[in-house]
Amino acid sequence: MTNQQEQAKTVALEALPLRDNLRGQFPYGAPQLEVTHLLNTNENTHPVPQVVADAIGKAVHTAATSLNRYPDREFTELRQRLAAYLGHELTENNVWAANGSNEVLQQVLQAFGGPGRKVLSFPPTYSMYPLLASGTNTEYISGVRADDFTLTPDEAARQVKDTAPDIVFLCSPNNPTGTALGLDVVEAVYQAGEQFNTIVVVDEAYEEFSLSGTKSALTLLQGRERLIVSRTMSKAFALAGARLGYLATSPQVTDALRLVRLPYHLSAITQAAANAALEHVDVLLATVDEIKAQRDRIVHELEEMGLKPAVSDSNFVFFGWFEDAHAVWQGLLDRGVLIRDVGIPHHLRVTAGTAEETTAFLVALREVISA
Ligand SMILES: *Cc1c(COP(=O)(O)O)cnc(C)c1O
Repeated sequence: MTNQQEQAKTVALEALPLRDNLRGQFPYGAPQLEVTHLLNTNENTHPVPQVVADAIGKAVHTAATSLNRYPDREFTELRQRLAAYLGHELTENNVWAANGSNEVLQQVLQAFGGPGRKVLSFPPTYSMYPLLASGTNTEYISGVRADDFTLTPDEAARQVKDTAPDIVFLCSPNNPTGTALGLDVVEAVYQAGEQFNTIVVVDEAYEEFSLSGTKSALTLLQGRERLIVSRTMSKAFALAGARLGYLATSPQVTDALRLVRLPYHLSAITQAAANAALEHVDVLLATVDEIKAQRDRIVHELEEMGLKPAVSDSNFVFFGWFEDAHAVWQGLLDRGVLIRDVGIPHHLRVTAGTAEETTAFLVALREVISA
């Protein structure tokens, strides 16, 4: 679209009786361009293994014959399978799911946020949090991190006490920086939020890629009924197109989410596909080690180029320092490699894909830097 077209669109939108907090906002929109190497949205770039694709195809085919009926509103089999995958003595009563973890997070805001309520998060972090907040009319409070993007337990707890949030979103490993939070931060935030009855969400979309030794917040669920750990099948499971996100929490919290979910929100097709995929967890996660190796290779080679990559527990690497990061982003795009300019000055983010994609990125980056 040209600037003029954009402007005309904005004017047309402004004429509508749009809610005030949506005026002037832009929809989520990572570029979806036709480029050889798509390394900008942290998908698993490995195709779905044939055995899994076949199993999904078969299950969806079977489900198709009963599409005249509404699906299992409680998606019980899926909750059982997800609980079994998560372990930690969780049962289906601890598990909830929706069409992507974005919908899960939206439901959390619908149940516990809303007008007059506040959600605290710590930018730079997942760009959807403020959008989900404004979509539900929840005030979004930007907490602060240190200059190196770290967050200590004391600092996080102090900011919770100062802002009295109804909900806190902690992204760990954090998107876009890639680094996981220590569990001491989660514990401190939960404790600081006790006096406000705060719901604490730990978004672990990238947990499967964590460095060995990094612990999941699932280990903290016992005895913390307002703690929520959200996960997704979009990243490590290589099923972004299936749209399945889920969370683990107390049975009370899942009951609260039942109050805001739309009836039958998980289609029979989605349930069939996810159930079939979960019968092949080992095959699906087989690429994780390879992706982690490429991630570590990117970190190593960026350091060799004199750049500063952040510690990554995820399938992407956040790195700087560039005088003009956007020019570097454009230079890479000109060479067929699309990565992400997350809008943080002097920094960029790249997804770790296959060995070939990593090579293409590194070769292109060396060219752009020396140009
Ligand atoms: C990719 C991502 C998600 C996943 O969203 P889905 O709706 O499950 O595809 C959630 N949180 C973060 C931080 C992400 O980067």
